[in-house]
Amino acid sequence: MCYPARSVGTSERESTMAQELNFKQELTGFFGQPASENPTQAMIEAAYRHHDLFWRYLTIEVAPEGLADAVRGARAMGFRGFNLTIPHKVSVIQHLDGLGESASLMEAVNCVVRRGDALVGENTDGKGFVKSLSETTDPSGKNVVILGAGGAARAIAVELALAGVPKIRIVNRSEQRGRELVDLLNDRVPAEAEFVLWEGDYRVPEDAEVVVNATSIGLYPDVDARIPLNVDSLQSHMVVCDVIPNPLTTRLVRDAESNGCRVIDGLGMLVNQGVVAIEYWTGVDPETGPMRKALEDIFGAP
Ligand code: NDP
Repeated sequence: MCYPARSVGTSERESTMAQELNFKQELTGFFGQPASENPTQAMIEAAYRHHDLFWRYLTIEVAPEGLADAVRGARAMGFRGFNLTIPHKVSVIQHLDGLGESASLMEAVNCVVRRGDALVGENTDGKGFVKSLSETTDPSGKNVVILGAGGAARAIAVELALAGVPKIRIVNRSEQRGRELVDLLNDRVPAEAEFVLWEGDYRVPEDAEVVVNATSIGLYPDVDARIPLNVDSLQSHMVVCDVIPNPLTTRLVRDAESNGCRVIDGLGMLVNQGVVAIEYWTGVDPETGPMRKALEDIFGAP
């Protein structure tokens, strides 16, 4: 980290130390609304501190009508990059100079990276999920069931297909949203996708190897909400993943664990999308330990 040096002593020493002075931190952050309850700053700055990076990650509340100015401001102030969250993931695209492959397929950007003078939109949601899953099992060749068809499901499904998943079942309550995602997958990525209308308790098929809850069911404060799922159909050969980061141990994670499944909680995805963003911005591959610890301190470790 390049802290400002205090220059005292001979004029030669003073001039050497003056050259070391640097009060200008590299800027990153996120734009969203609401913003104040989003804990990403704690996670990213834990990594910056751990790796002695003289960088900042700012939590910035931006209303929809202010987004164009916010992006212009980020350009003018030399931001190295920034994340986007609700409600800016799609509307930001018109203000950028280009898109990475996944962002282009998903038509949604959650991470902007300054490359030269260009601001390029990427999507780290699904990449974070795949990185997290890969710590437990290689997704390539696996048969996957995804519950939900919203933004998280879309990011996860696209990235899993790009990682070599051949078959994805999308299970969703609203038929239109489910079919739109299935059509996108069948048209644009090398995976076979099938839509399943979610009625009653869903029974996970025996050939599923990875099961992902990508719905918002169980998110704090609705922690006792039950996913309409036949829990007995979760079998020990399956890896069961939840995207819900708060609470850390969801009802699904508990049920899957007691059935002998390997489980991945929502922090895995959250931490790993931070890892991908930091790699994009700084070139440093950060250690996950301090990042996860920062979030566990906030959400309460199990
Ligand atoms: P969206 O609103 O885009 O999608 C929500 C999905 O959940 C839809 O498929 C919706 O179905 C489904 N759903 C919600 N309630 C019910 C219900 N009662 N019964 C059945 N289906 C239901 O949200 P996102 O995709 O953006 O986010 C989903 C979750 O993912 C959130 O909890 C968010 O916190 C989490 N997330 C976690 C991340 C991480 O890093 N861990 C990153 C991004 C998101 P329908 O279409 O029928 O309405």
